[in-house]
Amino acid sequence: MDFALTDEQSTIFEMAHAFGQERIAPHARAWEASGEIPKSIWPELAELGFGGLYVREENGGAGLSRLDATLVFEALSAACPSVAAMLSIHNMCAAMIDKFGSDALRAKYLPSAISMDRLFAYCLTEPGSGSDAAALKTRAEVTDDGFSLTGTKAFISGGGYADAYIIMARSDGEGPKGISAMIVEDGTKGLSFGALEDKMGWKSQPTRQVQLDNCNIPAENLLGERGQGFTYAMAGLDGGRLNISACSLGAAQNALTATLAYMGERTAFGKTIDQFQALQFRLADMETELQAARVFLRQAAWKLDTGAADATKFCAMAKRFVTETGSKTANQCLQLHGGYGYLADYGIEKTVRDLRVHEILEGTNEIMRMIVSRALLSERNT
Ligand SMILES: Cc1cc2nc3c(=O)[nH]c(=O)nc-3n(C[C@H](O)[C@H](O)[C@H](O)COP(=O)(O)OP(=O)(O)OC[C@H]3O[C@@H](n4cnc5c(N)ncnc54)[C@H](O)[C@@H]3O)c2cc1C
Repeated sequence: MDFALTDEQSTIFEMAHAFGQERIAPHARAWEASGEIPKSIWPELAELGFGGLYVREENGGAGLSRLDATLVFEALSAACPSVAAMLSIHNMCAAMIDKFGSDALRAKYLPSAISMDRLFAYCLTEPGSGSDAAALKTRAEVTDDGFSLTGTKAFISGGGYADAYIIMARSDGEGPKGISAMIVEDGTKGLSFGALEDKMGWKSQPTRQVQLDNCNIPAENLLGERGQGFTYAMAGLDGGRLNISACSLGAAQNALTATLAYMGERTAFGKTIDQFQALQFRLADMETELQAARVFLRQAAWKLDTGAADATKFCAMAKRFVTETGSKTANQCLQLHGGYGYLADYGIEKTVRDLRVHEILEGTNEIMRMIVSRALLSERNT
């Protein structure tokens, strides 16, 4: 068993980290204030191969493993988890097109997805269905030349900002088998957006409802097979959960590094606060928990890469554990900064706000516990 990164993996991490520190971190607060990430950053990320991280090389992607991809998200999140998470959503869509799309659909959309000239958003959640996603109601009626979509998607990251949307809609009967996935381009007649959601964190990333009103799309925009959309949507989520965990890990690690430096400068009662043993013990606990989270995340990614039978269970356990550890660590770092931690200038309060949603999306952490406990009970019976 070898826990070390390869030279190539270290290079990937360092490249992403350097890009984040140079091109994202200095602007993260301004982008948060303006509520938008400049679109020009995406092709820059694509030049590093980050537009199709795990799209197969023969299809123009970087062909990285899921473990390699977690390194990219961990490194970029040190600069801004909101930007890194938007990149993760785009990559989830690109991978769905690569894995399930026909040759024609891949030829139509993959090049612009990989170059990030076209940013993709993922639309599963609806106002009436979140955790119970298979209960979605958006209709996809069959027309002479394709489908007509009608319904509302809620909480869409990049809603009204992305260039194309993968929409999960009901083309057939009730339940998961009645759901198909289709691509709707921005500007399609009948596609509109709700107001910008006013959120706690991830503020640089616009979140809006995506509304479809008799929105006609050609048959060729069906992703893969009719009735398989829910399976495709779920297939992307194991890896998405690893990415979001990596985002928590990288941002929390950055907060801990900043806290270590701060505690060596800040004085109270005649000494720097890093001299108080109670606080040293908190540092020790945070370091231990983050290292445990990192090893666990990489093990889950390795399980997914190697097609282990229990990969879904491990991805769910990692998502629950790493995102909660990340939030707890960031919150502790805020506390160790005292009142300054509460001020935006120190960067910690943004991390606390940004990481909170990682416990909610890509399946809430309650749903992660459900996946794990179901697996445990069924393993017991075999
Ligand atoms: C900032 C942000 C960005 C998002 N981006 C996207 C996106 O790009 N695309 C997209 O499709 N969706 C997106 N979402 C939606 C997100 O995936 C959902 O919010 C999430 O799946 C939870 O659904 P819900 O909000 O409807 O909560 P609900 O499903 O209503 O859950 C409410 C509570 O009940 C709990 N619960 C529900 N069922 C069970 C159960 N069986 N057992 C125990 N507890 C249960 C939940 O864990 C939660 O605590 C985003 C959400 C946010 C906040």
